[in-house]
Amino acid sequence: MTFAYTHMPLDRCSNQRKNTSWLKAQYHKESTLFCVINDGLCFFKQGEITPLFLSKAELTPLQIEQCIFLGKSDEHAIFAVDHNKLRFSTQEMLLTQGQWLALRQNSSLLNPYDAGILALAKGLVYWHKSHQFCGQCGNLHRSVEAGHARKCTHCRNMTFPRTDPAVIMLVEKMFADGIPRCLLGRQASWPEGVYSTLAGFVDPGETLEAAVIREVLEESAIVAENPTYITSQPWPFPASIMLGFVAQATSEKIDTRQDSLEHAQWFSRAQIAEFVVNKAAIIREGELNTQSTDEPTSPKGNNAPLKMSSSDSISSYLIQAWLNKKIGKY
Ligand SMILES: [Zn+2]
Repeated sequence: MTFAYTHMPLDRCSNQRKNTSWLKAQYHKESTLFCVINDGLCFFKQGEITPLFLSKAELTPLQIEQCIFLGKSDEHAIFAVDHNKLRFSTQEMLLTQGQWLALRQNSSLLNPYDAGILALAKGLVYWHKSHQFCGQCGNLHRSVEAGHARKCTHCRNMTFPRTDPAVIMLVEKMFADGIPRCLLGRQASWPEGVYSTLAGFVDPGETLEAAVIREVLEESAIVAENPTYITSQPWPFPASIMLGFVAQATSEKIDTRQDSLEHAQWFSRAQIAEFVVNKAAIIREGELNTQSTDEPTSPKGNNAPLKMSSSDSISSYLIQAWLNKKIGKY
């Protein structure tokens, strides 16, 4: 099984980013394409879920300093551009050519390689936008190294793209009745019935394993042990990577009163097999959750069917892998 944003068809050419003549040559090639990001939204063909990459001529006048080199394939070099840096007339022209849509909302319909490119573009454009000024002296930063670093115009402090690590874990336990169950939780803001694996950001000075144990304890009062790394997923919504783990619980009684979960529960494989696959995805930025918030929420107290985490998320992957006995001890 694979999941979204993990496929990258481009060679990032990271050892060439400081080579300005190489970069200029890539920028000026006829075949080079530009991926425009507009306040987190991606550009798609009108009426289709097909990304629209543009030529330099279509975005003229464009400066190389405005562009972030993403990488190159055999056919094209691709740069990302922040829509806010384009001329108003160019912005107007784009409106006639395509549509602005959220990546997560449409990722299940996208070619996985396009989803990987758009996720990279979105993450880097967001980083530039949120790091305009020097964290040391407050003066303006400017983009350097093909858009993969920023340097202060005053104190020359360098800063690099941020990726905040977050752990996401499938916690399992063998119960006295001989049935293994896994721990899933939900936040009050999610659509009725949606459950996900627990997740949280890694603290400074903390190992990933310690973060797994701490987050599970904080969110559910469950004591977990033996965190084992499974896989990771880029999560540039806006700037994370999800590090997937499986762990075993040594306690059973759940208490969610100390943290953000509305409810958490143990689920058997038989119960999870009945979950509805949740293809919708959130478009809200800055949240760690992997759920949909763009569906109408069912009224409280009804019998809304239980739903899996959004299908583009590593949470959904971990739950499916546990269901199929591909991960975990039990
Ligand atoms: Zn500075």
